[in-house]
Amino acid sequence: MTRCPTHGTLPSHLYVHVPFCVRKCRYCAFYSVEHPGDALLERYLSCLATELRLVMGPQPPVHTLYLGGGTPSILGPDRIARLLHSARSVVSLAPDCEVTLEVNPETIDRAGLAACRDAGVNRVSIGVQSFHDAQLQWLGRIHDAERAIETVEDALAAGMRVSIDLIYGLPGQSGDEWAQDLERAAALGVGHISAYELSYEPGTPLHAERPLPGLPQQAERAKHESEREELFFVTHKRLGELGFVGYEVSSFARNVEQRSRHNLATWAHEPYIGVGPGAHSYLGSGPGKDAASRRPQRRWNLPDVESWLSALDAGGIPPFGHEPLTPGQVLLERVMLGLRCLEGIDLEACERECGAAATRGLRRRASRLADRGQILLEDSRIVPTLEGMALADRLALELSADED
Ligand code: SF4
Repeated sequence: MTRCPTHGTLPSHLYVHVPFCVRKCRYCAFYSVEHPGDALLERYLSCLATELRLVMGPQPPVHTLYLGGGTPSILGPDRIARLLHSARSVVSLAPDCEVTLEVNPETIDRAGLAACRDAGVNRVSIGVQSFHDAQLQWLGRIHDAERAIETVEDALAAGMRVSIDLIYGLPGQSGDEWAQDLERAAALGVGHISAYELSYEPGTPLHAERPLPGLPQQAERAKHESEREELFFVTHKRLGELGFVGYEVSSFARNVEQRSRHNLATWAHEPYIGVGPGAHSYLGSGPGKDAASRRPQRRWNLPDVESWLSALDAGGIPPFGHEPLTPGQVLLERVMLGLRCLEGIDLEACERECGAAATRGLRRRASRLADRGQILLEDSRIVPTLEGMALADRLALELSADED
């Protein structure tokens, strides 16, 4: 990891947030603006170039660049090429830099994908969500299954690494329908699948319409938990049979090369810089004068396109929030992220960041979970078993508790 005297640890991962969508999906709680016109997209691109110049200091090449959203493919291939040019003008990309573009099938065609590849995109993450039209309509997606399949085939034909997102746990969705989605994805030849459980996020149309619990709340929660766990195991089992390894709770790859290096870095608690309205960054510990300013911190641009544009038009840093993390918070984050991943928790990194005493306590509590078969306790790592991964959030609280 490279360090510099003024910025602390320099991130080798860059995230660009593109907060625009054609239309909001009914389940989505992410910040994004619908129906952006050309004028707004042009202004966004110009301000993004300014933000990149302001926040990226002299630093070594970045190893991953992720264009996420929102719907980055809404920019179109020409603006995506210009965005990548802006990034390259302030930071060099490592020769094998993973450049990912999130894609909504309705917003790009075969020629557009080829143009993005020529501009430097080498991985696409396509929001397919389902291969069943009735489910896509219910979710409020703007594409149908046929269009999604065409986009996957076009991206593979362009020679890019292809990941697709799928959602399970829809009301009335049968186990067979879910299995068909997984089999269809595998048959198309994608190298990576992200399989997410539908969640009813407050503030979304789906949340307002969700069926009211028919059982007393506690019983309802327990029933939901056991259904969720069952779907988790079904998904890991079926994708395993289809040749994928679940290297994170929701992420499956045919081989190591197909894994998302950008996501792996963020789960391993490596620093990254995010630009764009609403983008988050994780900054490693710095060289500040006092303990608080030396702490690692999370920092985020406020999710508001207008204030972001106004600040950058005037040549200033856009409004942001930040939170220095205590060693206890860093430990909890490391444990929560590590228990979701096949790589597990790196105990040497925990000791460096959170101290020897906290790491000794973690090891002690971990031996209880090892006795229950939920983790494997190795010399320098705590590795979750599949049972442990299924209970990652609950076990993380148990492992991070101050008291035994
Ligand atoms: S396309 Fe993606 S970011 Fe946009 S509303 Fe739908 S789920 Fe949310």
